[in-house]
Amino acid sequence: MALNPLVDSRDVRFVLFEILEADKLSKHEKFSGFDKDTYEATLELAEQLAVEQVYPANAEADKTGAKYDPKAKTVTVPEGYKTAMNLYIESGFPGLGNDPQWGGTGMPEVICRAVADYFSAAGVAFIVYDTLRGGASRLIENFGTDELKKIYLEKMSTGQWGGTMCLTEPSAGSDVGALKTKAVKQKDGTYLLTGQKIFITAGDNDLYENIIHPVLARIEGDPPGTPGISIFIVPKYHVNPDGSLGERNDIVTSGIEHKMGIKGSATCSLSLGDNGKCVGWLLGEERQGMKIMFQMMNEARLDVADQALGAASSAYMHSVTYAKNRVQGSDPAKKGDFASAMIVKHPDVKRMLLWMKSQVEAMRMLTLLAAISGDLSHVEQGEKAKEAKGLLDFLIPLCKAGNSDLAWLVTSEAMQVYGGYGFCSEYPVEQLARDSKILAIYEGTNGIQSMDLTMRKLLMNPEMFNYTVFKKRIAQTLEKAKGVVDEKYIAAVREGVEKMDATVKKLAELRDQKKMLDILAIATPLQNAMRMLAHAWMHLWSLTITVPKLKEIAGDVSGEKALNMAKDNAEAAYYYGRILSARYYLGSEFKHFEGYLNYITSGEQAVIEAFDEIFTGALPQ
Ligand SMILES: Cc1cc2nc3c(=O)[nH]c(=O)nc-3n(C[C@H](O)[C@H](O)[C@H](O)COP(=O)(O)OP(=O)(O)OC[C@H]3O[C@@H](n4cnc5c(N)ncnc54)[C@H](O)[C@@H]3O)c2cc1C
Repeated sequence: MALNPLVDSRDVRFVLFEILEADKLSKHEKFSGFDKDTYEATLELAEQLAVEQVYPANAEADKTGAKYDPKAKTVTVPEGYKTAMNLYIESGFPGLGNDPQWGGTGMPEVICRAVADYFSAAGVAFIVYDTLRGGASRLIENFGTDELKKIYLEKMSTGQWGGTMCLTEPSAGSDVGALKTKAVKQKDGTYLLTGQKIFITAGDNDLYENIIHPVLARIEGDPPGTPGISIFIVPKYHVNPDGSLGERNDIVTSGIEHKMGIKGSATCSLSLGDNGKCVGWLLGEERQGMKIMFQMMNEARLDVADQALGAASSAYMHSVTYAKNRVQGSDPAKKGDFASAMIVKHPDVKRMLLWMKSQVEAMRMLTLLAAISGDLSHVEQGEKAKEAKGLLDFLIPLCKAGNSDLAWLVTSEAMQVYGGYGFCSEYPVEQLARDSKILAIYEGTNGIQSMDLTMRKLLMNPEMFNYTVFKKRIAQTLEKAKGVVDEKYIAAVREGVEKMDATVKKLAELRDQKKMLDILAIATPLQNAMRMLAHAWMHLWSLTITVPKLKEIAGDVSGEKALNMAKDNAEAAYYYGRILSARYYLGSEFKHFEGYLNYITSGEQAVIEAFDEIFTGALPQ
């Protein structure tokens, strides 16, 4: 396997086929047309296209950015993106996960997400065009009338037409229920929309012939807040009965944002109905808009998790290459030797690299576990399907917030590995850091994710079903690890679960006492702690496989024999490295977990008692 500069392809295969056994999905009818060879060929093609086409275009796109022409009110994307997107479309990637009935390939989500990792690592700003297209198409697939499906689906599945998600408005950010966009029903059953949408990713661009916008709006007379929201399909161009493009709809691009990162992604302001002619078609029932949009939001949250994993993976891989080439100081392991050494020899640099490696691997495992849980929730029956859905629901905020928080930290650490060069735009890691910051903000800020996890997914979830499934799955790994993995790593996870349980019990007491402010004040630390527990579980799970595999190849997992074998044999080297990163996570990094739990249960009231004026010391005038 050739070395990919952005993603450790061996690790992708390990997670897909050795940990999650994704190839076994083929036993279900829905995926019976695929086997491991099909998946391999798809991954290889994705890798090649990502590295050879998207990655070079992405650095250029950062410099040129998406451009807005205020006269024509149109947006152009960087040239390299157009070439790369055409190849991406020709290779059939847009419809990889879509229903074959509509021109898609129907591959499992877990494979689609592994593919997305390659493209995310090559360019977050590139892949967002496609993920929004995919999410919008699946909304129509699941909630559209036969007529809407007939008009839009095939062209969206094949990547001819793009898509967006239009929620945000100037006064409606995290609070989507505050939106003001209005819809008025017409005699022919369509609706006329008026309003402003802002921050719309891919809201306009010249990659696609047509752009299909799912738009949240309130039908005249409907109640305030989220219960009164409906969702409409608003095409950029109307579509004639024969499928050709008709007149331009009254949805106009009024500008794009100038941003810190993802500059190749067009973040647009859209004006709907300036001339009273913006026509939309209702998706699903009236006032069901939020419920319907949640399907796309959940998908998009995992898309963001993928983007974060990609950016972190790329930053890590670049740092490794850099550290193996940059000469500075002498090797501290060789006493009295003053010959120059690569910085990878320094324990502090090794610590940074191992920290990054252990985070990226855990992110990859958890994100792909969430993805395969989605697949299993569709193909399994009864309790198994219910459990898979429960686990997926629990993991979505953990992957979205966890990966995006970590992407910012990992890309920052990558800059540290590069030293001063990391701060300079000639080197790739500062772009990765800039591109990754948005991931903690859009698609529901990580603060909002922490409330979703703490309230909806945990404390308000009937009988805490999701959390119970999460613990049940960890218990299965603990059982599997017995006699295989060093007892101290098993104990770390077992005790982690016990301590988390005690913490959740205390939070449930606060819930029963209706002390909601106390709970909201610790939602983010709880999210961090839960993510750490999930990542510790992932690393223990990996050890249940890597330890026997390395023993099989090298006879042992440590000591001279194993080390020599690892230096000589690529497979041994892979497992050896994977074991070290799991040991690092469970034996060192996971020590921070208790810090979060202590914070959560400290009972400190400073946050609750803080009132607006204390932040500046000034009283209101
Ligand atoms: C580059 C980019 C692309 C985007 N793409 C899209 C898109 O395609 N479609 C779309 O609809 N939107 C998009 N957005 C909008 C994005 O989803 C919002 O910016 C985000 O949801 C936050 O809203 P806001 O910016 O208004 O911040 P605010 O909601 O004002 O939040 C500010 C801070 O207050 C916190 N906060 C707010 N309310 C609460 C609360 N109830 N409890 C606790 N904390 C709270 C937040 O966590 C945050 O830290 C995009 C934004 C950007 C910058």
